[in-house]
Amino acid sequence: MIEKILNYKNYDIEKLKEEVINTKDARLLFLYLFFTKNNKEIIAKEILKLKNYRYLHFTLRFFKLDCYEELLNYILDSNDDPCYLYNILYDVDYLDNKYQLKIIDKIISIGNDWYIFKALYYYFVILNLYNEELFIKLQELVKSKLNINISLNNYKEVFNNILYKNICDPEGFSSNCYQGHKKYIPNIIVCHINNTYNSAIKRFYDSSSDVSSHYVIRRDGHIKQVVSLDDSSWANGTSLKESSDVYYKFATSKLISSIPDNANYFTFSIEHESFDGTLTDEQIEASVKVMKEIIKYLKDKYNYDFIIDRNHIIGHNEINPVVRKKCPGSKFPFAEIISRLKL
Ligand SMILES: [Zn+2]
Repeated sequence: MIEKILNYKNYDIEKLKEEVINTKDARLLFLYLFFTKNNKEIIAKEILKLKNYRYLHFTLRFFKLDCYEELLNYILDSNDDPCYLYNILYDVDYLDNKYQLKIIDKIISIGNDWYIFKALYYYFVILNLYNEELFIKLQELVKSKLNINISLNNYKEVFNNILYKNICDPEGFSSNCYQGHKKYIPNIIVCHINNTYNSAIKRFYDSSSDVSSHYVIRRDGHIKQVVSLDDSSWANGTSLKESSDVYYKFATSKLISSIPDNANYFTFSIEHESFDGTLTDEQIEASVKVMKEIIKYLKDKYNYDFIIDRNHIIGHNEINPVVRKKCPGSKFPFAEIISRLKL
């Protein structure tokens, strides 16, 4: 069925729709929607009938549908996972203020401090919105949890202290990696974002998390190397299995979708602390510095000349488009980084 969906142009789209609906498989329904962009409303309602949160989330974040309120109301009524609700708030770009506030209210009512602060930070600082009622709740919360009085003058600073307080970098490299690069000379640099440096570092050194990146770059330009360039980090894996949402043929990068192997083997990855792809000047400088190191490494080790262009410096979303729509985000400064590398 996946091959049919990927090659939908060779089939009768209406017949294919019926076939997909008959499977009662939320994943296949979503993939039909994702690739064909046909019969959106019908398919979205089928996914809603199946009550599958994963693909409801994906459907909402890729398509603004007439029935989106129905989907959102179902989620708000029935889902109590603060991480899931935060992801809806963060990922669904077209949410109106009413739903933003409903989601944040629900996260507050669940009472997980980390997601409450992330949601409020996203609302007040990244989206730069203001709501008086919410601000009063924020004041109460910060007072009761941290015994700090916040005002309109200091709330951004307080947020920054909560989300970005310094931790010590672990020594050495993480064990979350494959040794070597198989038979490949890695020829692609992949850019990522992670909301906070601390949470990225924590996960990348946690041997039970199965994720890592070669480098992480903090908002102040601080660089931490997590995995040796001799090894393959676990940042943007692809799978050979059609049943996987990171199936390699889903990649929009032709270089990735043409190689039936895990993309981690032939890519280098750089994480940047950011919510939407916006980088500080210090981060851009650090990112260029790290990429120059990678280019030099490839020349020294393999006598390989890295090709500096948008096919070889790509975003995570170009490898795993189904699961990573907002990595590294629409504001990521590819053009500026590439032009600085060429200087
Ligand atoms: Zn990523």
